[in-house]
Amino acid sequence: MNDNESLKKRGDAVLVGCYSRYPVAMVSGSGCYLSDADGRRYLDFLSGIAVCALGHNHPRVTEAISSQARKLVHVSNLYYTRPQIELAELICANSFAEKVFFCNSGAEANEAAIKLARISAPPERYKIISLAGSFHGRTLATLTATGQTKIHKGFAPLPEGFCYAPFADLAALEAMIDETTCAVLCEPLQGEGGVRPLDKDYLHGIRSLCDRHGLLLIFDEIQTGIGRTGSLFAHEQLDVVPDIMTLAKALGNGLPIGALATRNEIAKAFAPGTHGSTFGGNPVACAAAVATVEELLKEGFLAEVSSKGAYFRKKLDELSFRFPDWLAGCRGMGLLVGAVLTEKAACQGPEIVSAMLERGYLLNFAGNAVLRFAPPLIVTTAQIDSLIDELADLLSVLTLG
Ligand code: PLP
Repeated sequence: MNDNESLKKRGDAVLVGCYSRYPVAMVSGSGCYLSDADGRRYLDFLSGIAVCALGHNHPRVTEAISSQARKLVHVSNLYYTRPQIELAELICANSFAEKVFFCNSGAEANEAAIKLARISAPPERYKIISLAGSFHGRTLATLTATGQTKIHKGFAPLPEGFCYAPFADLAALEAMIDETTCAVLCEPLQGEGGVRPLDKDYLHGIRSLCDRHGLLLIFDEIQTGIGRTGSLFAHEQLDVVPDIMTLAKALGNGLPIGALATRNEIAKAFAPGTHGSTFGGNPVACAAAVATVEELLKEGFLAEVSSKGAYFRKKLDELSFRFPDWLAGCRGMGLLVGAVLTEKAACQGPEIVSAMLERGYLLNFAGNAVLRFAPPLIVTTAQIDSLIDELADLLSVLTLG
């Protein structure tokens, strides 16, 4: 049997239980819609957590994947491949970067950034400062770089050389810098931490501190990059240029790929033998990513992401006025949007997400207080209206109940 219930049963019997999954098995997708094993359709306001930027089954990406798969699926990084080179050229042509390293996920991209920051500094400078509330991955080094104790729990002893500055406190961050520090790592907007943007002045302050103390500034743009915020990279809107940037999630529109982008003088510390990945820069994933980035860079696409994001936030603000017991406002950039639940309502976040799923809308709960929306960037204003109407209806029912 292949219905939702049977697939859940079979999955629970054989899959490691590190995810709390909804009792739904997705089988196909098209544009902003997903269909489950019982034939129900969902409007996807999550995109696999900011992954499927062009929506599901985008014809150009599907064609890029299948035509590359017919030519060459894998070859070792002992050899060059054209898709890998084309993707690196595209990233460099559209960012501060001059060199790119490819891997397979966000955590791997941040691992590479941590290793690069350390190997490019003298051995006594190894400490990396990240921010409270941040999220950087689930490998041992990246979970340690993550500024959330609940993510560290159970994995001691953690690697040495990480510390966490309180959010939005530049003086506290400066006080943590010492002769062992090599880098500051942060997201321009904290995604998992509850869609919390970093103030422009704060980010400028971090850049200045890095310059003054000779530290590398690493931007984790794994969630915010690749068009999500209305520019190819979020830092473009904040007028702060990092030394290293990490990417993953939307880069392959669903194919697993991560990347580290940096300047020549920093990249040269990764000499042959210092770092690598069997699958990193896989030709099929890179072909999907070239197609994805080229689509995002088409005239007017990113401007529309910004205007649809502004429209979405305006609608959520209106909803907050209508339901002040539930919603305390909204925040975000582009189409990475968070509706902040009131203190009283925050404990009901997971129930709201489940109830919306039952009503055919996918979203999730982030940072213990926020309903997070990251729809495909091709979402229409009519689809945004439909989500808002459904959420309004749910909140009215919950209020009455
Ligand atoms: N960094 C950020 C900002 C993320 O949002 C995530 C994933 O949510 C990661 C790193 C880890 O990425 P991955 O799950 O691909 O390892």
